[in-house]
Amino acid sequence: RADVQRDFIRQIIREDLASGKHHAIRTRFPPEPNGYLHIGHAKAICLNFGIASEFTGWCNLRLDDTNPGKEDPEFVEGIKDDVRWLGYEWHDLRHASDYFEVFYDAAVKLIRDGVAYVDDLSPEDMRAYRGTLTEPGRNSPFRERSVEENLDLFRRMREGEFADGAKTLRAKIDMASGNMNMRDPAIYRIRKVPHQNTGDAWPIYPMYDYAHCLSDALEGITHSLCTLEFEDHRPLYDWFVDKVDLVNHPELWQHLREGGFRTEPAKPRQIEFSRLNLSYSITSKRKLAQLVNENLVDGWDDPRMNTLRGLRRRGFTPGGLRLLIERLGVSKQNSIIDYSILENCVREDLDASAPRRMAVLDPLKLVITNLPEGHEETLTFSNHPKDESFGTREVPFSRELWIERDDFAEVPPKGFHRLKPEGEVRLRGVGIVKCEAMVKDADGNVTELHGTLDLESRQGMPGADRKVKGTIHWVSAKHGVATEVRVYDRLFNVADPDDETDGKTWIEHINPEAKRVVTAWLEPAAANVDPEQRFQFERLGYFVADRIDHTAARPVFNRTVTLRDAWTT
Ligand code: ATP
Ligand code: MG
Ligand code: MG
Repeated sequence: RADVQRDFIRQIIREDLASGKHHAIRTRFPPEPNGYLHIGHAKAICLNFGIASEFTGWCNLRLDDTNPGKEDPEFVEGIKDDVRWLGYEWHDLRHASDYFEVFYDAAVKLIRDGVAYVDDLSPEDMRAYRGTLTEPGRNSPFRERSVEENLDLFRRMREGEFADGAKTLRAKIDMASGNMNMRDPAIYRIRKVPHQNTGDAWPIYPMYDYAHCLSDALEGITHSLCTLEFEDHRPLYDWFVDKVDLVNHPELWQHLREGGFRTEPAKPRQIEFSRLNLSYSITSKRKLAQLVNENLVDGWDDPRMNTLRGLRRRGFTPGGLRLLIERLGVSKQNSIIDYSILENCVREDLDASAPRRMAVLDPLKLVITNLPEGHEETLTFSNHPKDESFGTREVPFSRELWIERDDFAEVPPKGFHRLKPEGEVRLRGVGIVKCEAMVKDADGNVTELHGTLDLESRQGMPGADRKVKGTIHWVSAKHGVATEVRVYDRLFNVADPDDETDGKTWIEHINPEAKRVVTAWLEPAAANVDPEQRFQFERLGYFVADRIDHTAARPVFNRTVTLRDAWTT
């Protein structure tokens, strides 16, 4: 892959290796454990872990847990699971909170060096002093405190002496900077909130901009890849890395090594790339959480969700997702990717990897009247039309079959090549059947069809090659296994649910048809399988045995994707 992928990030890395700036490439994937990962994160995962393996480096999984309250160990476990499911293994598993002592000592160093101060302004006043894009900010009246006073106040912040919001440690940079992020940004704030990893140990927490770059530096990350919204934060990223200077201050992190961490600080370089946005979906953890919390979906792993758990439960494959990310490439151009591109990648992967089976989702009975009562036989079907290594299976055939209701039309539209009164169609793997009669209920609905099988058209017979337009699938009524099938579709019925110009909120764009539950008939070889077994049900699409609810005794399948795109054609 390394020599075929030619995006600007891999180009920078090649140059850094060629010039000798780096001898090994080290990356990290740094999610905040405040929700489950979504399809957008797959891009960051494939990029960071992919680059590490292509250039024989390594990639850490770092939980960016500097924002207690919203973070939860449940999400930590979910994230680990999802990264592994996508096919990647981390070098070290770290938490930003593993470094809280280092961050604290580094802040003390910044105070000693005269570039950080404790501010008593309230959060509201701080905002007012900050100025605007067109107006410079004003210096806080507390900006010129002595080093001694700042050290004393910061120590007392840590000891829990002050209330939330009463004091803030800030970097002393430039209140007139054209970059708002450089106007004396906060380093630590007081928050007496328990933390998912450190419990009640800390009443103060470091800000993301401070903790993130120092975590990168501590771990020796060479290329810190992040999304475009952090471009304006890069000067601050570099400022903290340079002022703290971990590489030349081992006293700040020596204890991590003694505690068993593989710590080898370096100066990281931040590089931004564009986010992955998908049409007909949302990629915001906050909104995904809202769907779950307001019971608009059945949890984080609902197959309609574009969380990695949801996509997995839906039957999407890690290979299909990796293919998508590879196809999209990496750039600085923000765009919305059409959902059908994702579906096509998944189809491509499943076409190669999913064995074929027959299932009927909307059954109509067909009785073959020229076979004797009680007739049954076993037919041999290949499991994959393009790959013999998938082998064959036995499919029971009998006098009474289920076919799809829409494979029959009493009054066929023009060009209808399936079953119609007096019409002929090929029954997949059996032969040509002719519709001779319809049975109707009191309301005139067709409840059963009667037909005859042309015995001369069966395999091995002289008429086996006789042509008819149209082949339909079937399941033996006597042998079929009744199965719950959840027919899923896109969660939103407009391409951009966030577009509110039509007066509707994103929630009002939820597609009520995105989940339909039917009772289907499956051939026996499709039913008695493990959870997460994927199949192509011929002519219908790709389906997966539900990883939570499916059992051999009570099969449950989810529709992953249809065989063809029904949305853009
Ligand atoms: P959200 O806005 O949904 O909460 P986030 O960016 O806050 O997402 P993090 O947990 O901070 O989520 O993200 C971890 C990593 O994944 C970051 O490096 C982030 O830039 C990257 N990432 C998040 N969303 C996307 C996306 N849509 N496309 C590409 N990378 C993403
Ligand atoms: Mg974030
Ligand atoms: Mg976030």
